[in-house]
Amino acid sequence: MEDASARLEAVRKRIREACAACGRRPEDVELIAVSKTFPADAIREIHQAGQTVFGESRQQEAAPKIAMLPGGLKWHFIGSVQRNKVRKLLPLFDVIHAVDSLRLAAHIDEVAAELGLFPRVFLQVNLAGEETKGGYPPEMLERDLPALLELRRVEILGLMTIPPEGPDAESARPWFAALRRLRDRLQSVYQAGLPGLSMGMSGDFEVAIAEGATHVRVGSAIFGKRAYRVEGELG
Ligand SMILES: *Cc1c(COP(=O)(O)O)cnc(C)c1O
Repeated sequence: MEDASARLEAVRKRIREACAACGRRPEDVELIAVSKTFPADAIREIHQAGQTVFGESRQQEAAPKIAMLPGGLKWHFIGSVQRNKVRKLLPLFDVIHAVDSLRLAAHIDEVAAELGLFPRVFLQVNLAGEETKGGYPPEMLERDLPALLELRRVEILGLMTIPPEGPDAESARPWFAALRRLRDRLQSVYQAGLPGLSMGMSGDFEVAIAEGATHVRVGSAIFGKRAYRVEGELG
């Protein structure tokens, strides 16, 4: 579909412009095309338009789609992680974005050792203390960080957040800035390498880039409006 590749190109252009506006390099911002709720055919079109990195939020939905698509695609798991799904998730996904407890991270580490894998993860932070969302309260993340950094298999890429819904893109800026400041502080206090910031979606990725995002998770701006909500997930 021409539409789909035009939308992809429009998003790429917006990323380039957002980078230019703040003096960053576009190759330092990874675009994750969030394909949840969309069928394998729609993903194939976006892949043919040149996109190789995709995001899914439910294992049951993703597994059959991944099996239908070329092996060269990279998959990021952006949904909340259920312990009992970890064994199925790890072989399918290159990166997991929403790890939010030491217990979960340690479980991932154990399963990864059994499977011979070295998973890469983001630690999700719940900056606003929203009860409806997953994510580490910042102070608990700080408490767990030394133990998280000692896991043998799990590589921590950085921090991820989903800001509270707001009236416009600008309302997300303070949350993006807060995630970056938290990251900077943890890096200097714990000598931790936390280079990644997974933040920004269709409505606000330019603001996220201005605040330092290294991974933007963009769904509807590429695939179009989702017909239904994914349980336990954002719109
Ligand atoms: C669905 C989802 C996205 C993409 O949202 P859009 O507004 O469609 O870009 C990004 N991140 C997470 C965690 C999601 O669940």
